[in-house]
Amino acid sequence: RVINFSPGPAKLPEKVLQQASKEMLNYDNTGLSVMEMSHRSAEFSKIMSTAEADLRDLLNIPDNYKVLFLQGGGSGQFAAIPLNLMNLKPARVADYKITGAWSSKAAKEAEKYGKVNLVLPETKKYTGIPCKSTWNFHPEASYVYYCDNETVHGVEYDHVPETNGVPLVCDMSSNFLSRPFDIKKYGVVIAGAQKNIGCAGVTVVIIREDLLGYTLPECPIIFDYKVQVGMNSLYNTPPTYSIYIMGLVLNWIKEEGGLEAMYERSLIKARAVYDLLDSSDGFYHCLVAPNARSRMNIPLRIGGPEGVPELEKKFIEETQKCGMISLKGHRSVGGIRISLYNAVTVEETLHLVEFMKEFMAVNRK
Ligand code: PLP
Repeated sequence: RVINFSPGPAKLPEKVLQQASKEMLNYDNTGLSVMEMSHRSAEFSKIMSTAEADLRDLLNIPDNYKVLFLQGGGSGQFAAIPLNLMNLKPARVADYKITGAWSSKAAKEAEKYGKVNLVLPETKKYTGIPCKSTWNFHPEASYVYYCDNETVHGVEYDHVPETNGVPLVCDMSSNFLSRPFDIKKYGVVIAGAQKNIGCAGVTVVIIREDLLGYTLPECPIIFDYKVQVGMNSLYNTPPTYSIYIMGLVLNWIKEEGGLEAMYERSLIKARAVYDLLDSSDGFYHCLVAPNARSRMNIPLRIGGPEGVPELEKKFIEETQKCGMISLKGHRSVGGIRISLYNAVTVEETLHLVEFMKEFMAVNRK
């Protein structure tokens, strides 16, 4: 197998893939693949309730928080959030902290359903989290939205934003379960599975109970959190196989030592890369401010702050030849991006860092 540094859908733990392939034709002596099972069967109910119990266990989720497994991805939730929460206050306005491409997309979607107040000064260059003195909160905001880890720009929060009691809504799609966090500080957390906790198809939504019941009438029923909570995510057919794979990953995380272990590992991996970038005398460029550097996605340029196209092309070609794939930066920003989700091992990361050292030695002018 190759070493997959993809930003998502991303590498899965090999143990998970092995178990899934072992059970592919005959899950738990049912004579069926999980893909062929009714979502209302006893076997699938057990898969789903075990996944929820493991998630609750990993994050210490109290009973007043509900867990949903929905379809539609993070992008579906960009609409579902305003459709469910914009109405929490009559002004129908929400605060959005935009620190990269994904929170920007979420704000654009929210504009369809209410007013969006931009908390941070507008910019096209996302390289950090602007200082507090520039923030502008709306006094009537229904909720404050932010993205904990911007997958394209590599900007990650190192703290939970303060909101003065306004419900905090967070997109954790690309750093979910890569470190412990206190769910009680949040109103809603959403996360697509295809980076840290499984394959594409299922999106986790964790919502505080008292925020249910404010849904706008135009909300599609599959995105109505109250309806889906009432029906245990089974209003319509849930993404059964993706939930099964997520369940295997959650179990793997527990076996590996839980979120503390994921966090420790993520720090070792990210430090190995950033230390090289910082000691490369400008050969490798990281544009993100040190206090906002992502542990999950590391965008960088080679040969200068704008990147030298021939060098970056050569880097991609040579890494591919060495069995390391998906290192190209997002098409909107170019350059290189290294994604280091939970399933990428320390050894794999160090292998890439060694390659990068050699590449620098050969190609530095
Ligand atoms: N939010 C973040 C942080 C993401 O990285 C992505 C996708 O990469 C999304 C949302 C959108 O997810 P989806 O493609 O599942 O709609």
